[in-house]
Amino acid sequence: MYSDLPSIIAWPLAATLGLVIGSFINVVVARLPGMLMMQWRAEAREALALPEEIDNPELPRITLTTPRSHCPNCATPIAWHDNIPLLGYLKRRGHCAYCRQSISLQYPLIELASGALMLAVVIIDGLNGASLMLGAACLLLLTLALIDLRTQLLPDILTLPLLWLGLLYQLLFQPWLLESAVLGAIAGYLVLWCFYWLFKLATGKEGMGYGDFKLLAALGAWTGWEMLPLLLILSAGVGAVIGIIVQVAIPRLRGQALPFGPFLAMAGWITLLFGGYLMGLYQAALLG
Ligand SMILES: [Zn+2]
Repeated sequence: MYSDLPSIIAWPLAATLGLVIGSFINVVVARLPGMLMMQWRAEAREALALPEEIDNPELPRITLTTPRSHCPNCATPIAWHDNIPLLGYLKRRGHCAYCRQSISLQYPLIELASGALMLAVVIIDGLNGASLMLGAACLLLLTLALIDLRTQLLPDILTLPLLWLGLLYQLLFQPWLLESAVLGAIAGYLVLWCFYWLFKLATGKEGMGYGDFKLLAALGAWTGWEMLPLLLILSAGVGAVIGIIVQVAIPRLRGQALPFGPFLAMAGWITLLFGGYLMGLYQAALLG
């Protein structure tokens, strides 16, 4: 599976792949929560023995492929040459080609983040089967973080494949870590489950959701149980710093709980990319 493509080819290839997938991540982030809502609504109606909603015009008919990408203001479909990741946005200087309405900076920023993550993985690990799987994990984390920020959801349809993919990665590329990965998945779930119930018993409030337990379980599968304390320290640390900044800088968000998923994702990126190096520092610090 190992390839020895020179950096001059591998790096631009990785960045381009990341940009293209980033464009798809924009679609998933915008549409998946609505698609899940529709599915839950249909399941709830079925459980209540209510008739199916066939022609309710208030329900959007969306999938990941239909309708085609269009301007949110004038609904004109976007031509393929204006829809090229990053370049399309730059070409139209961030405006719709028809109605001139400005297009959210969020789209090119997500494409850039995705490109940067893929590039970082390939710079650190080269371009091969293992690094492509690692890149896929980083981009799944990006998608989950964005959906959690927008909707406070961490859909199973993304967290569970991240977990299976982590176990498969260990089986294929470092089978000697498989045992630690299985324990990592179990302990990752359990540790947040315990936090959740202790917090709920002590305060009567829900501090986080079941999606967070599954996300830490998935990260445990990727990193092994030994990394779980580091993942928790990093996510709680980054979460505390960003939480304080947000509370001070954005008065409207004061007193509101922040979703935990994005901080777990950030801790996941750091650990997936620099895990070996960090573990060395961490052990050195523990041993004095
Ligand atoms: Zn428009």
